[in-house]
Parts: sequence; structure tokens; C-alpha cells
Amino acid sequence: MNIKDKLNSLNIVPNKALGQNFLVDESAIESIISVSDVGGYGVLEIGAGLGALTSELIKPAQKVIAVEIDKNMLDVLNTLKVESEHGEKLSLIHDDILKVDFDYIIKELTFGYTQQFKVVGNLPYYITTPICQKLIKHHAHISQLTLMMQTEAATRVSAKPNSAQYGVLSIASQYIYDIESVLDLSPQSFYPQPDVHSTVITMKKHDYDPEIADRLIKITGICFAMRRKTIQNNLLASGLDRVKASELLENANIPPNARAEALKIEDYIRLVKAWK
Ligand code: SAM
Repeated sequence: MNIKDKLNSLNIVPNKALGQNFLVDESAIESIISVSDVGGYGVLEIGAGLGALTSELIKPAQKVIAVEIDKNMLDVLNTLKVESEHGEKLSLIHDDILKVDFDYIIKELTFGYTQQFKVVGNLPYYITTPICQKLIKHHAHISQLTLMMQTEAATRVSAKPNSAQYGVLSIASQYIYDIESVLDLSPQSFYPQPDVHSTVITMKKHDYDPEIADRLIKITGICFAMRRKTIQNNLLASGLDRVKASELLENANIPPNARAEALKIEDYIRLVKAWK
């Protein structure tokens, strides 16, 4: 049964406010599962919907936790648990991904902190940025993310300095992960069709220092607090005194009148190292 008929038969009207644009493009589903590379891993799926990705992820994965906010979707996902021969590998959490107990998810999917897990999701676009911000904070446990988002949001993740899209998310993501755009999809790949184009990105972990990553997220947050102001003014606004701010910038070899968006990741790493 196609998704439209399935929704009709269940008497479900897609909820626009929850970003419910269901993936109906079979070849896109196949590509996403293939690049997700979840074989043998614990997987967090964000916004499982009617289970288009879930039903395929549970085959190779060791365990899948799917978080979904909409009770109607949960009812459908529950049938997958019973009907799929891999259903016992699926755990469902009825919650808002921004409020869910992440410590519990991490413990479950890392099998008691013995390995890292992977994240997959056709994200609800209205909260793409807060979801990504939340995930990046848990970098220590996440080895790969495969995320479908609005194309414009994908450009923010891989943005380079001196562009309006460049910010905390770009810097932290690129410091920790190799980012690749793997698939561009037009609205026709979804039902109902969204107003925007979509992109699937993969983020695969490379060598990095987890402690620096944690501090990088905090310090870039301070530096980008007021985008239009100089880096020095942002440091002062965060409560640093003038002498300490100047010293810090000098030690990191960063001009005080530079703006946050002009600095490269290497510049921020020097700042993190200078800021003891
Ligand atoms: N994975 C399905 C697919 O690819 O067809 C559905 C993707 S749809 C773009 C996004 C899903 O996220 C919807 O099922 C929606 O109900 C769910 N969702 C929206 N807001 C959410 C939230 N705050 N927490 C968890 N799930 C959410």
C-alpha cells in the first residue's frame, strides 16, 4: 500500500506543524539505508513517522531506538515491532527528541558505553538546528550521522568562513566529522510535498580531541553570540575583563577587531588552547 492510501485507511491527516512529509521515494530510502552503514550498530532514529526508514534500519542494525512525538505514528510503528521478523530489535520512545532522556539512549545504544552509535533521521525541518545542536554535544558517543534536512540547513553544516551560513554548528561539525552531501531530493520524493528541497548529509567521525570539541562548542557560542560585533566585543559581553580578552586574543594570534564569521576552525582551536 502506498503512503497516501495507508494514511487514508488509518484516517490520519499529515500534521504540517510537526513537519510530517513522508518519504515515498523507494530509491532514496535505499540510498539512505546504504550510506547509513548501520550494520551491527546501535541506531537512534529521529522522527520515525510511519516507519519508511525504520523498517529497513532494523534489518542490519543491532538495535534501533526510534523517537517519535506523534501518537498516531507510534500506533503504526508498534505494528512494525510485532510484524517484522526484526521487530524485537526495535524500541519506541514516544517523546519530543529535544526533551528525551539522552543519557538513557546513549547507555542503551552504546551497550553500556562499549561502542559508539549511529544516528539516522529524516528530520522534522522546523527544529533541524536545535536537533543538530543537541546531537553535536553528544559527539563522544556518536560515530556517524545520516540526516535528511532542508537543503539550506545542510549548507549551514558544511559552510566555510565568511559566509552567512557559517557558525557554531559548522565549526563544531567540521572539527569532529567529515561531512558529505550524498543526495538531493525534490519535493516530489515526499507525501505531502514540502515547500523546500531536501539534502541528505552524512557526518563521519575523523580524528579529533573530544575535550577540545567540548570547549570549542562553548567558546564558539560566545564568539557568535552577536554576529555583527567584533570577537573582542563578544568576549567582553561574556564577562571577560578587557585585559584578559586582549591577552587571550594576542596569545591566539587573532586580531581583536575580527568578526566571528571571518575566523577559520584553526583560529578557533588556537583560541580554545589559549583559553585555559
Ligand atoms: N521518517 C519518516 C519518513 O522518512 O517518512 C517521517 C519523517 S517526517 C519528515 C518527520 C517526523 O518527525 C514526523 O513523523 C513527525 O511526527 C516527527 N516529529 C516532529 N517533531 C518531533 C519531535 N520534536 N520529536 C520527535 N519526532 C518529531
